[in-house]
Amino acid sequence: MQAWVIGNWKQNPATISDVNTLIEALLAAVGDDKADNDKDSAFDRSNGCQLMVAPSCIHLAAVSERLKDMPILTAAQDISAHSDSIGAYTGDCSAQQVADAGASWTVLGHSERRQYHQECNDLLVQKLSNALTQDLGVIFCVGETQAQYDEQQTLEVLDAQLEAIKTLLDDQAHLATSIAKHLIVAYEPVWAIGTGKVPTVEEVSATHQHIKHTLAGYAEPLSQTAVLYGGSVNADNADSFAASPVIDGALVGGASLKADSFLAIADAFGRAKKSG
Ligand code: PEP
Repeated sequence: MQAWVIGNWKQNPATISDVNTLIEALLAAVGDDKADNDKDSAFDRSNGCQLMVAPSCIHLAAVSERLKDMPILTAAQDISAHSDSIGAYTGDCSAQQVADAGASWTVLGHSERRQYHQECNDLLVQKLSNALTQDLGVIFCVGETQAQYDEQQTLEVLDAQLEAIKTLLDDQAHLATSIAKHLIVAYEPVWAIGTGKVPTVEEVSATHQHIKHTLAGYAEPLSQTAVLYGGSVNADNADSFAASPVIDGALVGGASLKADSFLAIADAFGRAKKSG
């Protein structure tokens, strides 16, 4: 299966100048023009790992423009629930605006959105629907808190969060194939995000098996959904996660803000999936 390594830049970098520095460092490694696609580069793109970055909405258009026709996709970090196009929704950016800015994907349901903006399933169903209406792919994040992990409630928490996808499918069963093409699930234990703490590869693998099984139960086309792990992935631990056949890539926060560590993670997944 295709490996994915996706950088979630959150509210970083601080300036467009810093954004440009990061983008140019990535492009220097992956090849910064179409002609380079045929040449050897520091990052072996033939390794089959698809790169993506999710800049803040203020930087999305500039980053997407620079990455046009390059081997790095762009994603928004969120979209409006209220309208897929335009409307009186101060502070929101719609799926149409995100697509028009050049992004082909959006992150949805990140735990920081769930925590700081009280995002619930009803809202996320609306966002999922708006993304699909505008042909945006969705990286749908799920994950349990430390307390839920300690109480061994991980799987039931994930089941409840994945219900948003089931609700969407119940409404639009005829779109299952299209939804499957537009969906990546990211398993991100809240307690592992930005903390340096990680679950064992065995724990993540068992959880991914459960997610894949659950999605396949919703609709057969979803059996092929890529499931990524996120939470304190770095250049040192990427190889161990990449070695698991059910970990299809990584959603990376902190380590995506440095080209070297982001590319090392991509390289680890690319190598593992090529040899696996
Ligand atoms: C994230 O916020 O999606 C994330 C995985 O962050 P970090 O890699 O910094 O833990």
